[in-house]
Amino acid sequence: MYADNKPCTVCGSEVSLRAHTDPRPGTDPDGPVDDRVCSNPDCPTNSGEPDAPRA
Ligand SMILES: [Zn+2]
Repeated sequence: MYADNKPCTVCGSEVSLRAHTDPRPGTDPDGPVDDRVCSNPDCPTNSGEPDAPRA
């Protein structure tokens, strides 16, 4: 069964899933379909930087 509700890998806060609505050409089409969004607004994963760590 597919489940991806692990806490944020950076800060350990709860992570919510959002449908991936911006598929980027050239990326793996079989890659993750959901974006993991950390619930902590101060988390580095929410910095908006292109090289920000993944939640
Ligand atoms: Zn986080």
